[in-house]
Amino acid sequence: MVYHCPICGAELIERKAEAVCTFCGRLTPTEYICLQGHHICEECQLATMPQVVERVCESTKEKDPGHIANLIMKHPAMLMHSAQHHFIVAPVILAALANAGELVLHKGRLRAALRRTADIPFASCGTRGECGACIGLGAAVSILTKASYLKDKERSLALGASAEALFAVAGAGGPRCCKQSVYLTLETGVAFLKRELGLEFPLKIECDFSSRNQECKRERCKYYEPSVETP
Ligand SMILES: [Zn+2]
Ligand SMILES: [Zn+2]
Repeated sequence: MVYHCPICGAELIERKAEAVCTFCGRLTPTEYICLQGHHICEECQLATMPQVVERVCESTKEKDPGHIANLIMKHPAMLMHSAQHHFIVAPVILAALANAGELVLHKGRLRAALRRTADIPFASCGTRGECGACIGLGAAVSILTKASYLKDKERSLALGASAEALFAVAGAGGPRCCKQSVYLTLETGVAFLKRELGLEFPLKIECDFSSRNQECKRERCKYYEPSVETP
Protein backbone atom coordinates (compact mmCIF):
# COMPACT_ATOMS: atom_id res chain seq x y z
CA MET A 1 0.00 0.00 0.00
CA VAL A 2 1.43 3.36 -1.04
CA TYR A 3 0.44 6.51 0.84
CA HIS A 4 0.97 10.04 -0.40
CA CYS A 5 1.72 13.20 1.52
CA PRO A 6 -1.39 15.41 1.73
CA ILE A 7 0.81 18.51 1.64
CA CYS A 8 3.09 17.90 -1.36
CA GLY A 9 1.86 14.65 -2.89
CA ALA A 10 5.20 12.81 -2.48
CA GLU A 11 5.22 9.14 -1.53
CA LEU A 12 5.36 8.58 2.23
CA ILE A 13 8.15 6.48 3.74
CA GLU A 14 7.49 4.20 6.73
CA ARG A 15 9.60 5.56 9.57
CA LYS A 16 9.03 5.31 13.31
CA ALA A 17 10.59 8.45 14.75
CA GLU A 18 9.48 11.88 15.95
CA ALA A 19 8.76 14.91 13.81
CA VAL A 20 7.09 18.29 14.04
CA CYS A 21 3.47 18.11 12.88
CA THR A 22 3.01 20.41 9.87
CA PHE A 23 -0.49 21.30 11.09
CA CYS A 24 -0.18 21.86 14.85
CA GLY A 25 3.58 22.35 15.22
CA ARG A 26 3.99 19.79 18.02
CA LEU A 27 6.74 17.17 18.15
CA THR A 28 4.89 13.87 17.79
CA PRO A 29 5.61 10.21 16.94
CA THR A 30 5.61 9.25 13.26
CA GLU A 31 4.56 6.06 11.49
CA TYR A 32 5.14 7.49 8.04
CA ILE A 33 6.99 10.59 6.97
CA CYS A 34 7.34 12.62 3.79
CA LEU A 35 10.88 13.14 2.51
CA GLN A 36 10.10 16.87 2.32
CA GLY A 37 9.67 16.74 6.11
CA HIS A 38 5.87 16.95 6.17
CA HIS A 39 4.17 15.05 8.96
CA ILE A 40 0.64 14.97 10.32
CA CYS A 41 0.18 13.83 13.93
CA GLU A 42 -2.57 11.44 14.98
CA GLU A 43 -4.63 14.14 16.71
CA CYS A 44 -4.54 16.36 13.63
CA GLN A 45 -5.42 13.42 11.41
CA LEU A 46 -8.49 12.62 13.49
CA ALA A 47 -9.54 16.23 14.04
CA THR A 48 -12.70 17.66 12.50
CA MET A 49 -12.17 20.57 10.09
CA PRO A 50 -13.20 23.24 12.64
CA GLN A 51 -10.68 21.67 15.04
CA VAL A 52 -8.02 21.66 12.30
CA VAL A 53 -8.60 25.38 11.64
CA GLU A 54 -8.20 26.09 15.34
CA ARG A 55 -5.11 23.90 15.75
CA VAL A 56 -3.34 25.43 12.74
CA CYS A 57 -4.29 29.04 13.52
CA GLU A 58 -3.24 28.70 17.18
CA SER A 59 0.20 27.34 16.38
CA THR A 60 1.23 28.94 13.08
CA LYS A 61 3.89 31.65 12.97
CA GLU A 62 2.97 32.50 9.37
CA LYS A 63 2.08 36.12 8.54
CA ASP A 64 0.63 35.37 5.11
CA PRO A 65 -3.03 34.30 5.39
CA GLY A 66 -2.81 32.64 1.96
CA HIS A 67 -0.17 30.22 3.25
CA ILE A 68 -2.22 29.39 6.32
CA ALA A 69 -5.37 28.83 4.25
CA ASN A 70 -3.50 26.61 1.79
CA LEU A 71 -2.19 24.41 4.61
CA ILE A 72 -5.67 24.04 6.12
CA MET A 73 -7.16 23.27 2.71
CA LYS A 74 -4.65 20.41 2.25
CA HIS A 75 -5.88 18.53 5.31
CA PRO A 76 -7.18 15.08 4.28
CA ALA A 77 -10.65 15.86 5.71
CA MET A 78 -11.01 18.98 3.57
CA LEU A 79 -13.21 18.59 0.51
CA MET A 80 -12.42 20.34 -2.77
CA HIS A 81 -15.72 22.22 -2.64
CA SER A 82 -17.58 22.53 0.66
CA ALA A 83 -19.03 24.75 3.35
CA GLN A 84 -15.77 24.06 5.22
CA HIS A 85 -14.33 26.98 3.27
CA HIS A 86 -16.75 29.37 4.96
CA PHE A 87 -15.19 29.14 8.42
CA ILE A 88 -11.55 29.35 7.29
CA VAL A 89 -11.29 33.02 6.36
CA ALA A 90 -11.94 34.85 9.66
CA PRO A 91 -9.60 32.71 11.85
CA VAL A 92 -6.88 32.73 9.18
CA ILE A 93 -6.96 36.54 8.92
CA LEU A 94 -6.86 36.98 12.71
CA ALA A 95 -3.95 34.52 13.07
CA ALA A 96 -1.95 36.19 10.29
CA LEU A 97 -2.53 39.66 11.74
CA ALA A 98 -1.44 38.43 15.17
CA ASN A 99 1.74 36.95 13.70
CA ALA A 100 2.40 40.21 11.83
CA GLY A 101 2.27 42.01 15.19
CA GLU A 102 -0.94 43.87 14.35
CA LEU A 103 -3.06 42.47 17.17
CA VAL A 104 -2.97 40.33 20.29
CA LEU A 105 -5.00 37.18 19.79
CA HIS A 106 -6.83 36.45 23.04
CA LYS A 107 -7.68 32.87 23.91
CA GLY A 108 -11.01 31.80 22.51
CA ARG A 109 -11.05 34.48 19.83
CA LEU A 110 -10.27 32.03 17.02
CA ARG A 111 -13.05 29.70 18.10
CA ALA A 112 -15.46 32.62 18.33
CA ALA A 113 -14.47 33.74 14.81
CA LEU A 114 -14.98 30.24 13.51
CA ARG A 115 -18.42 29.91 15.10
CA ARG A 116 -19.66 33.09 13.44
CA THR A 117 -19.33 31.57 9.98
CA ALA A 118 -19.73 27.84 10.68
CA ASP A 119 -23.46 27.82 9.97
CA ILE A 120 -23.44 29.19 6.42
CA PRO A 121 -24.73 26.31 4.28
CA PHE A 122 -23.13 24.71 1.26
CA ALA A 123 -24.03 26.30 -2.10
CA SER A 124 -25.25 29.55 -0.51
CA CYS A 125 -23.38 31.47 -3.22
CA GLY A 126 -25.83 30.26 -5.82
CA THR A 127 -28.96 29.91 -3.70
CA ARG A 128 -28.90 33.25 -1.86
CA GLY A 129 -26.06 35.30 -3.26
CA GLU A 130 -23.87 34.86 -0.21
CA CYS A 131 -20.44 33.26 -0.43
CA GLY A 132 -19.50 32.11 3.06
CA ALA A 133 -15.82 32.90 2.49
CA CYS A 134 -16.73 36.55 1.81
CA ILE A 135 -18.87 36.70 4.93
CA GLY A 136 -15.80 35.42 6.78
CA LEU A 137 -14.07 38.69 5.91
CA GLY A 138 -17.06 40.61 7.27
CA ALA A 139 -16.84 38.54 10.46
CA ALA A 140 -13.11 39.29 10.80
CA VAL A 141 -13.71 43.03 10.37
CA SER A 142 -16.59 42.87 12.84
CA ILE A 143 -14.36 41.18 15.43
CA LEU A 144 -11.51 43.65 14.82
CA THR A 145 -13.79 46.70 15.19
CA LYS A 146 -16.11 45.19 17.85
CA ALA A 147 -19.04 45.85 15.55
CA SER A 148 -22.64 45.01 16.35
CA TYR A 149 -26.01 45.87 14.84
CA LEU A 150 -26.17 48.86 17.19
CA LYS A 151 -22.86 50.37 16.06
CA ASP A 152 -22.50 52.99 13.33
CA LYS A 153 -19.19 53.03 11.41
CA GLU A 154 -18.10 49.60 12.63
CA ARG A 155 -21.27 48.00 11.28
CA SER A 156 -20.78 49.76 7.93
CA LEU A 157 -17.19 48.50 7.76
CA ALA A 158 -18.21 44.88 8.37
CA LEU A 159 -20.93 45.11 5.73
CA GLY A 160 -18.58 46.87 3.32
CA ALA A 161 -15.89 44.21 3.73
CA SER A 162 -18.31 41.39 2.89
CA ALA A 163 -19.71 43.40 -0.01
CA GLU A 164 -16.29 44.10 -1.54
CA ALA A 165 -15.36 40.42 -1.32
CA LEU A 166 -18.71 39.40 -2.84
CA PHE A 167 -18.11 41.76 -5.76
CA ALA A 168 -14.67 40.20 -6.32
CA VAL A 169 -16.09 36.67 -6.31
CA ALA A 170 -19.03 37.66 -8.52
CA GLY A 171 -16.66 39.29 -11.00
CA ALA A 172 -14.59 36.12 -11.32
CA GLY A 173 -17.55 34.16 -12.73
CA GLY A 174 -18.60 30.58 -12.16
CA PRO A 175 -18.94 27.72 -11.86
CA ARG A 176 -17.97 27.65 -8.20
CA CYS A 177 -14.48 27.35 -7.03
CA CYS A 178 -14.21 27.48 -3.26
CA LYS A 179 -10.42 27.87 -3.45
CA GLN A 180 -10.75 30.86 -5.77
CA SER A 181 -13.38 32.40 -3.48
CA VAL A 182 -11.08 32.08 -0.46
CA TYR A 183 -8.14 33.59 -2.40
CA LEU A 184 -10.21 36.50 -3.78
CA THR A 185 -11.58 37.18 -0.30
CA LEU A 186 -8.10 37.20 1.26
CA GLU A 187 -6.86 39.61 -1.43
CA THR A 188 -9.84 41.87 -0.82
CA GLY A 189 -9.28 41.57 2.92
CA VAL A 190 -5.62 42.53 2.86
CA ALA A 191 -6.40 45.66 0.80
CA PHE A 192 -9.49 46.51 2.89
CA LEU A 193 -7.78 46.13 6.27
CA LYS A 194 -4.86 48.29 5.17
CA ARG A 195 -7.08 51.00 3.72
CA GLU A 196 -9.72 51.12 6.45
CA LEU A 197 -7.94 50.04 9.62
CA GLY A 198 -4.25 50.59 8.83
CA LEU A 199 -3.47 46.90 9.44
CA GLU A 200 -0.76 45.40 7.25
CA PHE A 201 0.23 41.82 6.49
CA PRO A 202 1.74 40.12 3.45
CA LEU A 203 -0.16 38.02 0.92
CA LYS A 204 1.08 35.93 -1.96
CA ILE A 205 -1.57 33.67 -3.43
CA GLU A 206 -0.41 30.40 -4.94
CA CYS A 207 -3.10 27.93 -5.93
CA ASP A 208 -1.90 24.39 -5.24
CA PHE A 209 -5.18 22.79 -6.20
CA SER A 210 -5.67 23.23 -9.95
CA SER A 211 -4.40 19.78 -10.83
CA ARG A 212 -6.47 18.10 -8.09
CA ASN A 213 -9.61 20.10 -8.90
CA GLN A 214 -11.49 18.47 -11.75
CA GLU A 215 -13.64 21.59 -12.12
CA CYS A 216 -10.72 24.04 -12.21
CA LYS A 217 -11.53 26.98 -14.46
CA ARG A 218 -7.91 26.93 -15.58
CA GLU A 219 -7.21 29.88 -17.93
CA ARG A 220 -10.37 31.60 -16.68
CA CYS A 221 -8.90 31.84 -13.18
CA LYS A 222 -6.24 34.42 -12.39
CA TYR A 223 -4.58 32.04 -9.90
CA TYR A 224 -4.16 29.23 -12.41
CA GLU A 225 -0.50 28.32 -12.98
CA PRO A 226 -0.05 25.57 -15.57
CA SER A 227 3.42 24.83 -14.19
CA VAL A 228 2.09 23.99 -10.72
CA GLU A 229 0.99 20.41 -11.21
CA THR A 230 0.99 18.54 -7.91
CA PRO A 231 -0.50 15.03 -7.87
ZN1 LIG B 1 5.16 16.22 1.75
ZN1 LIG C 1 -0.68 17.89 14.71
